[in-house]
Amino acid sequence: MQFKNTRAFAQQLDHQDELSKYKDEFHFPKVNNKKVIYFTGNSLGLQPKRTQNYVSEVMNDWANLAVEGHFYAEKPWWDYQERLAKPLAKVVGAKPEEVTVMNTLTVNLHLLMVSFYQPEGKRYKIICEEKAFPSDQYMLSSQVRFHGFEPDNALVEIKKRDGEHFWRTEDVIEKINEVGDELALVLIGGLNYYNGQVFDMKTITSAGHKVGAKVGWDLAHAAGNIALQLHDWDVDFAAWCSYKYMNAGPGHVSGIFINEKYLGQKNIPRFEGWWGHDKNRRFLMEPEFEPMPNAEAWQLSNIPILSVAPYLASLSMFEEVGMEKLLQKQKLITSYLEFILHTISDEVKGDFEIITPKERGSQLSVLLHGEGREVFDYLMKEGVIVDWREPNVIRLAPVPFYSTFEEMFEFGQILKNAIQNT
Ligand SMILES: *Cc1c(COP(=O)(O)O)cnc(C)c1O
Repeated sequence: MQFKNTRAFAQQLDHQDELSKYKDEFHFPKVNNKKVIYFTGNSLGLQPKRTQNYVSEVMNDWANLAVEGHFYAEKPWWDYQERLAKPLAKVVGAKPEEVTVMNTLTVNLHLLMVSFYQPEGKRYKIICEEKAFPSDQYMLSSQVRFHGFEPDNALVEIKKRDGEHFWRTEDVIEKINEVGDELALVLIGGLNYYNGQVFDMKTITSAGHKVGAKVGWDLAHAAGNIALQLHDWDVDFAAWCSYKYMNAGPGHVSGIFINEKYLGQKNIPRFEGWWGHDKNRRFLMEPEFEPMPNAEAWQLSNIPILSVAPYLASLSMFEEVGMEKLLQKQKLITSYLEFILHTISDEVKGDFEIITPKERGSQLSVLLHGEGREVFDYLMKEGVIVDWREPNVIRLAPVPFYSTFEEMFEFGQILKNAIQNT
């Protein structure tokens, strides 16, 4: 498609956009009495209006039924989480029994490492990407120290090449082969939070397995954003948060994927609790743990319903629209934003470059040379909500559910003024 940097062209794309009606389904913050242009759905997704009803329902059931709500609520609480498995499985390319929701992301990664990081003899090393998301770095370091190793030795980072802003798949594979039979686990952020790169999860997973390692993915920035086929790629495990592209609210419950080959096992290393126990026998309060036959075997506590309800609300939208349409729009709107950035850069000799490689989701990371911070401040003042990552990167993530093509055009005009006026 031949893009144009005009309002009329952008409006025409909005007109043809089947998802345009979903914009009204979200609450938008306002700046100067105008809805903001929201580019930070990769950090905290906007609130769907329908979420209120899902949360109110739980509050009402709690008020009216109290403890009886566990079994007699509109959506009984004791197995509330089961309602999320099917729609969530479609989002991440899994079987419903391979996914569940529980805890929060970093907590889940720790719990999953209990099962999937089992150092033995000389096989104790973990491969991750350099400059992983800080929480992942702390998580990995503390895990290897917990097992008696030194992070400097046990954690092997994949580096970018000098002068490049992205990781090369061949470098990841080479490192996996080099570490070889010392490699216990590969655990990488499937979509890098900083440069927006999508890793070749299928190829890397298979390479990890070839040398006898387990392979897991942190999908915080990938879930609800890109095409995932966790089951077909034979991924061992994965976890993601619900509050970024999945719009389920700040700090709310995280999703996990456990490959079906690990389901129904009693002897797998795992930290266990009563909500992972066979639900038909849960309230018999028996001493011996009988795992749920699905990913719920990893559940510990009874479900934080008020945190799960917004996720169910959000998933009902993913279910209505389907990943295919979301991905189609994601590709088109991100390409349009990229075109706008290039056009503005040419027009005003903008001193910036897009560092996101072509393997990407909806996020574009823009490296600002020169007066970056002032451009950022100008954008925020004009109601363009972007985010800033040191030393001088702005991340822009249009979200198929609620971003419009006209906003991309509008943003271009504001950016042009920002560059000319700072
Ligand atoms: C957002 C994000 C997190 C956040 O972890 P929480 O436990 O939800 O606070 C962790 N890792 C990555 C890669 C992220 O992008």
